Amino acid sequence: MNSKKYDLIVIGSGAAGIIAAIVAAREGKKVLLLEKLSKIASKLKATGGGRCNLTNTLSNEDFMARFGRDGRFMQDALSAFDNKALVEFMQEIGVETHAPDGFRIFPTSHSSATIIEALENEMQKVGVEVQCNQRVERLLVVGEHISGVKTQDDMLNAANVIVATGGLGYPVLGAEGDGYNLASELGHKVTDLSPAMMPLRTKEEWVKNCRADTIAKVELRVDLKKHKKLRAKGDLIFTNHGIRGPVVLDFAREVTPLLKKYGEVPLLLNLTKGKNEEDIQKHFKKELSKHPDLNAIELTSTLLPLPLSQEICRLAGIDETQKYKKVDGKKRAKLISLLAWTPLTVNGHDGFRLAMITRGGISLKEIDPKTMQSKLIKGLYFCGEVMNLDGPCGGYNLQWSFASGYLAGKLL
Ligand SMILES: Cc1cc2nc3c(=O)[nH]c(=O)nc-3n(C[C@H](O)[C@H](O)[C@H](O)COP(=O)(O)OP(=O)(O)OC[C@H]3O[C@@H](n4cnc5c(N)ncnc54)[C@H](O)[C@@H]3O)c2cc1C
Repeated sequence: MNSKKYDLIVIGSGAAGIIAAIVAAREGKKVLLLEKLSKIASKLKATGGGRCNLTNTLSNEDFMARFGRDGRFMQDALSAFDNKALVEFMQEIGVETHAPDGFRIFPTSHSSATIIEALENEMQKVGVEVQCNQRVERLLVVGEHISGVKTQDDMLNAANVIVATGGLGYPVLGAEGDGYNLASELGHKVTDLSPAMMPLRTKEEWVKNCRADTIAKVELRVDLKKHKKLRAKGDLIFTNHGIRGPVVLDFAREVTPLLKKYGEVPLLLNLTKGKNEEDIQKHFKKELSKHPDLNAIELTSTLLPLPLSQEICRLAGIDETQKYKKVDGKKRAKLISLLAWTPLTVNGHDGFRLAMITRGGISLKEIDPKTMQSKLIKGLYFCGEVMNLDGPCGGYNLQWSFASGYLAGKLL
């Protein structure tokens, strides 16, 4: 056993673990941060496509509402460290931020590396000891109190331990679910875990012919009987096997449980910026009044990129080279209805490999929201994605990681 004794050992160097370590060290605690990968903050580096959407401008009330039923659990953490506090903290450590679209907040450098460098400097300044390549294998307990951790190399003493090991998404960035095992070995319940925020696979193979196309302002719908109707709007990108893009990420959170239940989920897409059948008919009429000899594909291309227009014409059974005026009435009606709502069938996804978030985690029932401390083991705390809370795309999950890490690091 290493003879050094720490006030706090933090397991995991993501947003949650790093801020917890800084907060505790600022209050004079002797802190050790353990990271199993060779570098700190690998996932933080990848966030926002490398730009790091660290939070957003919502009020705490609205913010919590976007996390669903359990959102209220965040109240104390957000009161202690909300978006404004996070922005101030970043400024204090030398990172300027801005909200280019008035909602999502990024570092002005538009690089997550700026944030990581500043956090690393701050950890050094306040005396956090960081050890990489150290995987925690077990939590050590004496009676009902945490006493330290066992890594692959050593046994380490500490009066407090914070588990900030993240979820299961993007395992190459360190998220392999270790925290769930560590906590459940001590009696904590872990809810069902499923991947969320990831590309979706579709049964229809035609999507691969459109894979270069990014379609703006797409509307997505799922109308299943006996289920809440699902709606979303945003940019969509076709892939070799299905769909991805910001609108799909959020939608995937909702679709995954349905997929688990039914195996397939019928989806309707409006790819024409919200135009309904009547709007499309009017648009076609206008185009044909200017160019009466347009063929079907030329006409649909006034609304959609060429490869997508070709696929939609094919689905409507229309010979794309045929002059639109000569197309049979039923096929025209079919084309217009397909342009208003294009059907796709979601039949799978790539699982945790490409999931930005894990839905589920350590049950909130056994964690005190005022402190983030375990209700079962004294001196044991949790923060970040390892807990059973997940938010949509748009800085929600990092804000939650920072806020819960801040509160946990107070060791209240
Ligand atoms: C590609 C991508 C982009 C994203 N973009 C955004 C975004 O722009 N905005 C946003 O709000 N959210 C975003 N998210 C989600 C967000 O990144 C996470 O919710 C958040 O980073 C979770 O932080 P965390 O500190 O809880 O866990 P993590 O960042 O996952 O950190 C956990 C750390 O613990 C380490 N660890 C695990 N087990 C052990 C162990 N046994 N011993 C030692 N160390 C261990 C891991 O290696 C890892 O470094 C994105 C996610 C992904 C994958």
